[in-house]
Amino acid sequence: MNNKIECIRKAKFPFKLWDLSVYAALIVAVVFLIVSLRSPKGGTLEIAYYDKQNMRQVREYDLNKDAEFDLFALSDIYGEGRLTVVVRGGEAWVEESGCHNQICVRMGRIGRVGQQIVCSPYRVVLRVTGAGDISEVII
Ligand SMILES: [Zn+2]
Repeated sequence: MNNKIECIRKAKFPFKLWDLSVYAALIVAVVFLIVSLRSPKGGTLEIAYYDKQNMRQVREYDLNKDAEFDLFALSDIYGEGRLTVVVRGGEAWVEESGCHNQICVRMGRIGRVGQQIVCSPYRVVLRVTGAGDISEVII
């Protein structure tokens, strides 16, 4: 034990490459968290999906107007699926979905620029857009 401590003390550079990569990952995670928490409230909900004719559609909804609607999306594997999307109080979420894993329902509410909800079984992406948005929808 003491021998190990002496080795570390005598080393010119006490950190190993693995230590530095862990610190770098922590710093990146903290910066990402701060940026995501400080991102402004979005004004538009953009929904990208494939319709019954397998045509990619992108619809935009005002996040400041309360609404609830059903979205019918087509998946190559799972066929046609229905998602119930709710927009209320500047936030949007998937209330109900026919997908098997329910991840889109459990992703919670989004309302800040850049936040997304993805339903991969039905190939649906809900994204908040607004000033300062630099991300792209890729599905
Ligand atoms: Zn889903």
